[in-house]
Amino acid sequence: MIYLDANSTHPPREEIFPILEKYNRQFWQNPSGLYARFLRQKIEEARLQVAQWLGAEKEEIIFTSGATESNNTSLFSFAEIFSNSSKKKVLIGSIEHSSIEAIIPFLENRGFQVERIPINCEGLVDFDSYQKILDDDVAFISHCWVNSEIGTFQAIEKMGFLAQERKIPFHIDGVAGLGKIPIQLSKMPIDAFSFSGHKLGAGKGVGGLYIRSGLRFFPLLRGGGQEKGKRSGTENVPAILSLGEVARVLSQPNFQDICSQVEEYRNQFEEYLLSSLEGVVLNGHQDFRVQNTSNLSFSGCDATGLVILLAEKGLACSAGSACMAGSREISSTFQAMKIDEERAKSSVRFSFPLVGNFPWKEAAELVKKMVEKFRSVQGKKVGPVFIHPFQEKDET
Ligand code: PMP
Repeated sequence: MIYLDANSTHPPREEIFPILEKYNRQFWQNPSGLYARFLRQKIEEARLQVAQWLGAEKEEIIFTSGATESNNTSLFSFAEIFSNSSKKKVLIGSIEHSSIEAIIPFLENRGFQVERIPINCEGLVDFDSYQKILDDDVAFISHCWVNSEIGTFQAIEKMGFLAQERKIPFHIDGVAGLGKIPIQLSKMPIDAFSFSGHKLGAGKGVGGLYIRSGLRFFPLLRGGGQEKGKRSGTENVPAILSLGEVARVLSQPNFQDICSQVEEYRNQFEEYLLSSLEGVVLNGHQDFRVQNTSNLSFSGCDATGLVILLAEKGLACSAGSACMAGSREISSTFQAMKIDEERAKSSVRFSFPLVGNFPWKEAAELVKKMVEKFRSVQGKKVGPVFIHPFQEKDET
């Protein structure tokens, strides 16, 4: 299979398999057991690897089950900090993941007024509007670094400095930017930062949350007091160690060369489609976007149908504006960018894994062929054919 859906989940990195095997099969004990203190030591080593990679202190990193939990935890904690404050305005991005969106009703029930930070049609924060709504009533702010649908990245330092001037805590959903853009959190005006293991090629079910030291924090998960009381629950040791290993691999100086190589593949892939097909447009900002993401609308194609057709032919990608797996609604990102319905519904996201050697030409030729096929069928007014994309025959 040609895999172009790395923003959904990144292929596991080779380096993690021996770790997953060893700590699932041999060292599966509970790290809280007094006989298994070496496992606790291993977790601390992984924490140090992650902290060094992010430019943070070890004590500032909490391991979680993934970025959904990290995002939820940040917002719940901020809400708790400001529960008795007169500051009740909360600024949230317009192009956030559902794990942020889903907390908004909770915030509103707790008396906060949520205002959205406007973006332009390329998915970039509109700084004039941001500065206008950033006043002394703001309790806290949350924004994504990179939007995973279109790949556009925000000037989070500039946003953060404006927040810091007013002593407003600033949370970043860092999932789609981490690993692609180097970061040094201790030098940045960011108070909380969420990230996810499986988006980087570590195991699934692990992620992390950076909380700047000195910031008040209220845990979401309470119980056994793991993670120094900040996140209870028996640690997923193999997955945590895989995240530590991935942090080590991605912090090697040559990793940025791989990212540049991926950008080259992505650009060639995109140029091929833009130049060889009519009616193809790029969604998101051409330059301010991460190296691996290409979101293209193919006029006359229903994205879900096209993605299914491509899956049939062995190429995995996703319908660019579907708000949830299988959904045919237009995502809030496309709505916020004010992209018209036809363009949104014909948008496909291709997200390259951060690895060397990718058959971009083969992928581009297949996409071109399938778009042409789809358009010819659509022209005969035959609706898209729905086939389950991962049929059993692929596994046999
Ligand atoms: N934020 C963003 C931007 C994401 O893309 C995702 C995953 N799709 C999440 C948060 C949630 O991450 P996880 O799968 O680790 O819960």
